[in-house]
Amino acid sequence: MPTRDSCVLCHMPLAEGASLPNRRAGWYEGANPWPLAEDGRACDMCDQTKVLPARLSLFLQPERKSDEKGTD
Ligand SMILES: [Zn+2]
Repeated sequence: MPTRDSCVLCHMPLAEGASLPNRRAGWYEGANPWPLAEDGRACDMCDQTKVLPARLSLFLQPERKSDEKGTD
């Protein structure tokens, strides 16, 4: 079971990875790591560099690439 205080993706303490706005707000809990991890928390750095792009690609990319060329 992942510890509550460290990032499931890079294992850095969440407080260390907290973004400046979140530090100012006193928020050190990190972010939801879905879809990269089902459980635990992701630090803000991973949230921005890994989790958000992964979410975007889930929505933007179709499950299978249709790169068909006319074959008739
Ligand atoms: Zn991280």
